[in-house]
Amino acid sequence: MKIHEMTAHELHNMLKTKEISAKEITTEIFSHVHQVEDRMKSYITLTEEKAYAAADIVDKKIAGNEEISPLAGIPAAIKDVLSTKGIDTTCASKMLDGYVPPYDAAVIEKLYKNDMVMVGKTNCDEFAMGSSTENSSYFPTRNPWNTDMVPGGSSGGSAASVAAGQAVYSLGTDTGGSVRQPASFCGVVGLKPTYGRVSRNGLVALASSLDQIGPFTKDIRDCAIVMNAIAGYDKKDSTSISRPVPDYTEALKKDIKGLKIGVPKEYFAEGIQSEVRDAIETSLQKLEELGAIVEETSLPHSKYALAVYYLIQPSECSSNLAKFDGVRYGYRDKSAENLIDMYMKTRSEGFGKEVKRRIMLGTYALSSGYYDAYYLKALKVRTLILQDFEKAFGEYDVLVAPTSPTVAFPFGEKTENPLQMYLSDICTIPINLAGIPGLSIPCGFSDGLPIGLQILGEPFSEEKLLQVGYAFEKNSEFHLARPSFVEGGVEGE
Ligand code: GLN
Repeated sequence: MKIHEMTAHELHNMLKTKEISAKEITTEIFSHVHQVEDRMKSYITLTEEKAYAAADIVDKKIAGNEEISPLAGIPAAIKDVLSTKGIDTTCASKMLDGYVPPYDAAVIEKLYKNDMVMVGKTNCDEFAMGSSTENSSYFPTRNPWNTDMVPGGSSGGSAASVAAGQAVYSLGTDTGGSVRQPASFCGVVGLKPTYGRVSRNGLVALASSLDQIGPFTKDIRDCAIVMNAIAGYDKKDSTSISRPVPDYTEALKKDIKGLKIGVPKEYFAEGIQSEVRDAIETSLQKLEELGAIVEETSLPHSKYALAVYYLIQPSECSSNLAKFDGVRYGYRDKSAENLIDMYMKTRSEGFGKEVKRRIMLGTYALSSGYYDAYYLKALKVRTLILQDFEKAFGEYDVLVAPTSPTVAFPFGEKTENPLQMYLSDICTIPINLAGIPGLSIPCGFSDGLPIGLQILGEPFSEEKLLQVGYAFEKNSEFHLARPSFVEGGVEGE
C-alpha cells in the first residue's frame, strides 16, 4: 500500500519503528497532492513550508527517543472555516479574501500540541452553506470516486482530500450534515460529535445552536484517535461541556452482542435510492449476525426537521453574518461614497447567492410580526424532534439510518433548485437539531459511488457509535477501498 493510502495508526507505527520519517511522509503526501490537485481542487491554501517545519520537529523527537502522539507527523487537512494563525482563512467566501486570523481555533491549538503536520486549508461551500461544495466562491471540489460528481458539502474539500489521499485525516464542521454527508459521498468515516463535546472557539460561526466540529478519517480507529485529541471542555466556548474525555479507542475493544438497534422508518421515505436502501438493509443484517437486536422504530417529528432547520439555521446565520460589514474583516468595496453605501456594496459584492438567500430568509423569520409565527414555532417543533430521540434512546442503544438518501450527484444537478439541494440533508439535519452525535461509515457502493451508514446515539455516546461502527468495519471491506481516479483520467496514477 502506498503512503497516501495509509491510515494514521499505520503511519504512526511506522514512525515509531523508524521505518519511515515524518519528512518522508510529508514529501510523499505533497507529491501526491501536486499530482492530483488540478483535478481534485480540495484545497484553497496549501501550507507546505509549515508542514515540513512541523515534520522536522517530529523527526527530532523520534531521533531523541521521545514519546510521540499518535497524530505526530500525520498530515492533516483543515476546513477553511477554522481560524489558523498566520494562515489565510476564507470560509470559501470573497468576503474573507485575504483575511489572516491573529489566533488559532481551539481544535487547531490542540492538534498542534499533538504535532500535526498541516497540509492546507480545504475548500467548502461559502460559509459552510450548501451540500455539494458548488457554493464555494473559488471553485468546486471533485469527488475522487468519479470526478464528474460532487464530493458533498459543505465540508467537501475535507472529505475529498482524505478519500483522495491528499491528507490522512481532516477536520470539517457539521451544522446540518456537513461532515456526515460528504463522508458518505466520498466513502470515508465522518463523525459529528455531541453539541458541546468539541470547542468551537475560533470556528467562524454559521448557526451557533447547531455547529459542531468533527473528523474525517479512513477508518474508525483513526476517528477515535482524532477525537481523543480534539474533544474536551474549553472555557472560551460557553457551549462546551465540562465532562471527562474518555479514551475513545477503548470502544474498539467491545463487541455488539445484545446491543439494541432501532431503525427509524421515516428515514427510508420517498426519495431514497433503492441501492442506498438495499445497502443499509444488508448492513443491518450484518449487525444482526454480529449479535445486535434490530427493530423498526419511529421518529414521527423528523419529517418536520427540514422546515424547522431552514427557519432556525438562516435566522442564526443572518445574525452571525451581520459582522461582515467591510469594516473589520476581509473584503471592502472601495467605490462607496458613504458608510451605508459601503455596507451595502460590500455585502452585495462580498457574499454569494446562497449566503444572501439565507440572510434574507433569516431576517424575514426574525422580523417582528413573523418571529412568533416562524422562528418561535420552529423552536417548539425542534423540542418535539428532540423528544422523539429521547424516547427512542430509552429503548435502543443506537439508531441506524442512511446518511444521505442518495449517492453523490453530478455537478449542476441541484444548483438551480435550492429545495432539491436542501433535501440532500434530510437524514442528517434532525441530528443537529437534537444536538446528538452521528457517525457515518462506508457501507456499500452504487455504480462505483460510496454509500454511507449513519449511526446515532444519545448525547455523549460517541464511544457507542464507534463500538458499532468498528464491529461493522471489522467485518466489511468498504473502508479499505481506495479511489483510482481513473474515470477522471489523472495521469500517472
Ligand atoms: N447543507 C446544509 C446547509 O446548507 C448543512 C450545512 C452544514 O452542515 N454546514 O445548511
